[in-house]
Amino acid sequence: MHSRVTDKVVDRENTELRILGVPVRLCGLPVRTPGPPLRIHGMFAWIPVFALFLVLSGCAGRPLPSTPSGQTDPSRPLPTTPSGRPAPPVPSEPSRVFQPDQLPVIRIGLLVNRDSASLTGTGGFKVVDRSSGEVIGTSSSGQMWKMQAKGAWIDVSAPGGGAQGLYTGPIQVTPTAREGRIKVTDRTYRGSMEVVSNKNGKLTVVNILDLENYLRGVVPPEIGKLKESGIEALKAQAVAARTYTVSNLGRRKDLGFDLYGTVADQVYHGYAAEWSVADRAIAETRGMIATYKGKPIAAHYSSTCAGRTESIEDAWGGAAVPYLRGVQDRDRGSADFCRHSPVYTWRVEWKKNTLENILATRLPGLDPRKTGEFSLRDISIKQRSPSGRVRLLEIKSNHGTTTLRGDKIRSALRRPVRGQPLLRSTKFDLKFRQNTIVAEGGGYGHGIGMCQMGAIGMAGQGYKYDRILKHYYRGIDLKRVY
Ligand SMILES: [Zn+2]
Repeated sequence: MHSRVTDKVVDRENTELRILGVPVRLCGLPVRTPGPPLRIHGMFAWIPVFALFLVLSGCAGRPLPSTPSGQTDPSRPLPTTPSGRPAPPVPSEPSRVFQPDQLPVIRIGLLVNRDSASLTGTGGFKVVDRSSGEVIGTSSSGQMWKMQAKGAWIDVSAPGGGAQGLYTGPIQVTPTAREGRIKVTDRTYRGSMEVVSNKNGKLTVVNILDLENYLRGVVPPEIGKLKESGIEALKAQAVAARTYTVSNLGRRKDLGFDLYGTVADQVYHGYAAEWSVADRAIAETRGMIATYKGKPIAAHYSSTCAGRTESIEDAWGGAAVPYLRGVQDRDRGSADFCRHSPVYTWRVEWKKNTLENILATRLPGLDPRKTGEFSLRDISIKQRSPSGRVRLLEIKSNHGTTTLRGDKIRSALRRPVRGQPLLRSTKFDLKFRQNTIVAEGGGYGHGIGMCQMGAIGMAGQGYKYDRILKHYYRGIDLKRVY
């Protein structure tokens, strides 16, 4: 997908214009009608409410934001790694062009489709309605502003509950101090925030900051707060995350941002997640990305490969990618680099009726006429990929035969614990005992690209970050792009 990054200049413009707000671009100059205590601001203040909805939907002209098809995995055994990273949804085409020599400013979706959002500053900050340019107010440290979705408007309330009025937005919240930060819900973030009223009539909160500062909130939650001895793994993770970001600018453009701050893209926990050793790893690899034939690679990575990484086409279908071929997770004679991972092996056990209940809701393509009843008759592994992962799984039931392929198997065979998280990997054997089905497996995640626990293992054995990256992504070059 990365190869398309450079092809989409026009889309980039669309993205930015939509980010600025469709009304700004298509619907003319703002007209403001002041009048306390509750005022309607912005260009649409003069339009009757019922007409406004028509105008907005006409202006926006985009489908409703979708939720990520990749589900988060709330019960990770390794809290600091992206163990349960699901297969990403079919990627929308990257639409923003990465400009070499420039530190990219990126947009991370923190909250999507919310009724309200509360923002607080660490240090002073300024609240501006971007559609009109009006400064709504300034605040000192610790004061909380509340934004509520009101149809196509955003109801902005100043600290102390003082009503400020309705705005079309986007509402921009910017620290006034250089090191100022903004708190959203329970986390603080560098950079500025934008609160947008989306087409659902809900709020989206986007964090806007430069790529290097973003990585400071990504690398530790992705691979852990490793000690100095793990710095080469932190550097490898920094380069992989930087490359993933550059390759996927505009990936969520229909939602008004570049990437989710979750496992759907990359886990981003902002300022509180920052870690001195990771900061140094990021600074020492500043601007460094992995390239293949001169273009940024699709730098997928996952927690634990359990011995061999997976070729992308075996997990997600589609075309093979030269640098995303499965590789042994070891050098000649060594043990697997990720052998130290707590999920190097695992075991899951389902009672037959528990698995039936899970499959009844999770198995795609069930016969709707048989809703409510699911009787499992057989489940069998039909094909494995060269890495030993299950490539084809056949499930026979009263609904007929369903064949699941690659990483989709994890979404159906969910674990029988709270939240029904994805099966950790597709590397497993099945055993049947009376009324019980047992999966004995290894690894965590899709297995494509860099094995994070393997990278930690390699760093511990003295490998430098470039060797680590070139082990998992074969044939790549490292290039400093800004
Ligand atoms: Zn591994």
